[in-house]
Amino acid sequence: MSSTVRETALDHISTAQPVAPLPAPEQGKALANGYGCDVFNTRVMRQRLPREVYDRLMRTMTHRTPLDPADADIIAGAMKDWALEHGATHYTHWFQPMTGLTAEKHDAFLSPTADGQVFGEFSGKMLIKGEPDASSFPSGGIRSTFEARGYTAWDPTSPVFLLGDEYGRKTLYIPTVFYSYTGEALDRKTPLMRSVEAVSAQALRILRLLGNTTATGVQAMVGSEQEYFLVDRRLYVQRPDLMMCGRTLYGAKPAKGQEMEDHYFGAIKERVSNYMKDLDIELWKLGIPAKTEHNEVAPAQHELAPIFDTTNVAIDHNLLTMEMMKKIAPKYGLVCLQHEKPFEGVNGSGKHNNWSLSTTEENLLDPGDTPMENLQFLVFLAAVIKAVDEYADLLRTSVATPGNDHRLGANEAPPAIISIFVGEELEAVIDAIASDSPYAGPVKMKMDLGVDVLPKFSKDTTDRNRTSPFAFTGNKFEFRMPGSAQNLSDCDTILNTAVAKELKGYADELEGAEDFTSAAIALVKRTIRDHRRVIFNGNGYTAEWEEEAARRGLPNKKNTPAALPALIDPKNIQLMEDFGVLTKVEMHSRYEVEMEHYSKIINIEALTMLEMARKQLLPAINAYMSEVANTAASKLAVSEAISVRSETKTLTRLSTDADAMSDAIDALQAAVDTAEAMTDESAKAVSFHDDVLPKMDALRAAADDAETVCGEDYWPLPSYSKMLYYV
Ligand code: ADP
Ligand code: MG
Repeated sequence: MSSTVRETALDHISTAQPVAPLPAPEQGKALANGYGCDVFNTRVMRQRLPREVYDRLMRTMTHRTPLDPADADIIAGAMKDWALEHGATHYTHWFQPMTGLTAEKHDAFLSPTADGQVFGEFSGKMLIKGEPDASSFPSGGIRSTFEARGYTAWDPTSPVFLLGDEYGRKTLYIPTVFYSYTGEALDRKTPLMRSVEAVSAQALRILRLLGNTTATGVQAMVGSEQEYFLVDRRLYVQRPDLMMCGRTLYGAKPAKGQEMEDHYFGAIKERVSNYMKDLDIELWKLGIPAKTEHNEVAPAQHELAPIFDTTNVAIDHNLLTMEMMKKIAPKYGLVCLQHEKPFEGVNGSGKHNNWSLSTTEENLLDPGDTPMENLQFLVFLAAVIKAVDEYADLLRTSVATPGNDHRLGANEAPPAIISIFVGEELEAVIDAIASDSPYAGPVKMKMDLGVDVLPKFSKDTTDRNRTSPFAFTGNKFEFRMPGSAQNLSDCDTILNTAVAKELKGYADELEGAEDFTSAAIALVKRTIRDHRRVIFNGNGYTAEWEEEAARRGLPNKKNTPAALPALIDPKNIQLMEDFGVLTKVEMHSRYEVEMEHYSKIINIEALTMLEMARKQLLPAINAYMSEVANTAASKLAVSEAISVRSETKTLTRLSTDADAMSDAIDALQAAVDTAEAMTDESAKAVSFHDDVLPKMDALRAAADDAETVCGEDYWPLPSYSKMLYYV
């Protein structure tokens, strides 16, 4: 029976020898050697490209000017030579379709000659354009299967890189966008790149008005903090729910969860620490500046944060990081779980999106020492506040996924209400501006820890607030709603475009102003007065805030099917069309794709639950009941005087649970059948949410109760304690 499988697994875990990590790099050379060695980066380009071609490519990369097609052949040739020298045999256009995270289609460099030889071929055309069949990727009705043509096109702003397998075979990866034969975006990168251009152009207009004549461009910068779980692979393979759905659909609450708060920033276990070091080394080879790693709140939960970069590169790097995390884990007998809620009752995983606007010289969201007098800062701050308030509903769609529904509003992540935390100091500034009153300015307090030997340092003028979905953290905004499994492109596309719109409104108004400074101050004042409602510094996890937010008229869409309709709201379509980021057709297609995705995920979860209940859990409960009943019968056979009270109690409880499960199975099956039969994607998603989810909860509740009573040797699934602590 299954218990022997589990015993063997546990035996292996307890006696496993640590896996040797990658050899430590030579003393003193650990960092410099190897960083970016698998990237066709600017250093390699400078070495290998003719000077003029290099200069033009740099302009394309930093200023997003179109690439000269004649240069493409030369660049492709240099890339190919470099890749072949590094052992590559294949290349692939790497793209981000609306499903999953990334997709790739590999081609060999190989080209045969007439005399039976081969040579490595890679032209500018092959670099620039690919033609994967688009018919099997979601398009939300944009095209039918007979119009299958799709294209990928090189994104020269994100560097190409080499990825190898465990045998050292390498492939050249080319970051690309993906679109249909009729020109509609079928991916997440295309709109992101369009939004970056939009916000950059409008921010530059504002800078010019502020008297900045030297800045050549503005970049939206992103730093992502990726959370994840590590569990032992030998236990993982015994959980069909984890394998099929990425999260546990059953599992009684363990005796010890996260209540001791002993895991957060705790000492990292050796196996995990070795894994993290390997991960760092692999990421550094790819030029990904992985920097901070620590244990997170939940047992077995961890986080990795790289140093921020331009949006497009930062997001490609995050996707690669996620791939690498999964790829390296098996070497240590681990599995990396990136689902937002692998375990009920312990914290789930998010992905904070740190965002700012920057020229090559300065961060435009840096308040400096005197924010009240920093007009540039105030204008950009006002634009973000206005953008987030006006497009909160649209921003909410970017974090609406079935996985993330488990986090938002569950007292471990921000609520589904979008508000902005600015901190005490900035709120005082904002209040002073809004009420035309003087602002005294903060006094930088010295921190005195009462121990002379400890250094004295200035205290930050603002405390942190972990409950806010959108927090100003000194010189950047941190959007904390995205889920760990998500591609950050969607939220950054919306953020960039909404901010572009507000900056455009400002620039249009200020360009006509007689006195720029007083007009700009008036505009900041007006914005703050009109949008004060979105600023909230208090505890976002409380019920009072929900009520207060409702009074303020802030939207509060609690689940994915409720949140997604904002994608097709005319106001939001208008925004995206005005800045050429997404067309009405593309917005509708995204709406369809996301609704359909929601239904598919819940359907898979429900079917997995049903199968596990029917084929694993009920048989286990029955087997155990039979054992207990036999015990009782044998006891009674010896003497009627022997008590069978404990057997009776156990049998009564398990029998009740089994009946409840059996009824819940029927109810769940019926609900799934009804939802599945629906043809309208919106109605279907709503049905999965409203009718199917509660039935899943009922089935789980009965099964989880049975788990607490059923004999350990009979229960076929590794328990929460085993999965969370045997790492
Ligand atoms: P915190 O502790 O407030 O979360 P960190 O300093 O750890 O902040 O940074 C979190 C992430 O934010 C990192 O990825 C970091 O590189 C990134 N980050 C820092 N400054 C900026 C900025 N100006 N723009 C965008 N991201 C930034
Ligand atoms: Mg953070």
